[in-house]
Amino acid sequence: MNILINNLSDRISSKEEKLLQAVHNVLKSGMIVLGPEVKAFEAEFAKYVGVTHCISMANGTDSLELSLKALGVEKNDKVGTAANAGMYTTTAVLAAGATPVFMDVDFKTRNATLDSVKTAISAGAKVIVVTHLYGQGVKEIEQIADYCKNHNVGLIEDCAQAHGAIINDKMVGSFGDVASFSFYPTKNLGALGDGGAVVTNSDTLADTLRRLRQYGWSTKYHVDLKNSRNSRLDEIQAAILRVFLPQLDQDNQKRRDIAAYYLKNIKNEHIVMPQMIDESYVAHLFVVQCQNRESLKAHLFEKHIYTDIHYPVPDHKQSIISSEFTDVTLANTEQLSNEVITLPCYPEMTLEQLETIVEGVNSWRK
Ligand SMILES: *Cc1c(COP(=O)(O)O)cnc(C)c1O
Repeated sequence: MNILINNLSDRISSKEEKLLQAVHNVLKSGMIVLGPEVKAFEAEFAKYVGVTHCISMANGTDSLELSLKALGVEKNDKVGTAANAGMYTTTAVLAAGATPVFMDVDFKTRNATLDSVKTAISAGAKVIVVTHLYGQGVKEIEQIADYCKNHNVGLIEDCAQAHGAIINDKMVGSFGDVASFSFYPTKNLGALGDGGAVVTNSDTLADTLRRLRQYGWSTKYHVDLKNSRNSRLDEIQAAILRVFLPQLDQDNQKRRDIAAYYLKNIKNEHIVMPQMIDESYVAHLFVVQCQNRESLKAHLFEKHIYTDIHYPVPDHKQSIISSEFTDVTLANTEQLSNEVITLPCYPEMTLEQLETIVEGVNSWRK
């Protein structure tokens, strides 16, 4: 049997009856877009994160883009972002007509730091996006939020991989001016299709975001907000998310248990393991580092174990923009992009699968 990097059919079958019931209820209601399920989900998710507003959207890249626009980012503005987070933020920055200012990350946490944020702001960034990558909450998020506030710079948290991670007793997504989530099916909280959301404590930003996601309407058919578009979560996805949300903390704990199992049992001097496990990490991805990862990948593949690389190309090296960033060097980001490799880590994994993976990793010789 293959061990995949993720297994959605296990996830779906574990909740099949509730999911069918949820979809059935929506079909019976005849309300498909911006109805009661979306409203209920937005309220439940805002409460979960500990903020006052949740504005759901069609996906997590839209929610980044509309967050940038809500914070006033316009053509030719600069936006600070890490370059090791899969290009999603940069895609949103480019779509908003703005220019990314790439921040290097810490080699151990693989996340942006207060120092890298300071550098981006000195370079003219009007808004900063910090990504809680792989499910690891950014340790200095409070200091980063204070610094941005004091310098009148907007802060967006990208929480697409970190639903439920906690830093200093607060959930990620409650530190920035706004925070963006994705509910892509494999995320810690995933729909069965695309989905996303922005959360915020600001009434004004929430109002702007609600208009940005729906044609710029103030009231029906009255358009008074520029740069808007259509980006909505649908009722079926909202109903599905309401089935999965109550078990998110439990699922996150299972992910952490898997990560802890790997940390305890993987013993291979050629593999660098991530840091210790606590509530600031929801183990969206379990990412180790090694030189010669192609050999590890091939060794595991022979044993029917799938791995993945998150991510092979840093944003500033992507072909669509690399010519504009030839003078940018991000030492840690670049080294990480050559060394990271992801092992399977999702709540439905069995002990037997974990044992197979540990045996496979431990038997690899460089
Ligand atoms: C998945 C992801 C996104 C984008 O979400 P989509 O819903 O796929 O558009 C943004 N940022 C990060 C870090 C992600 O992992």
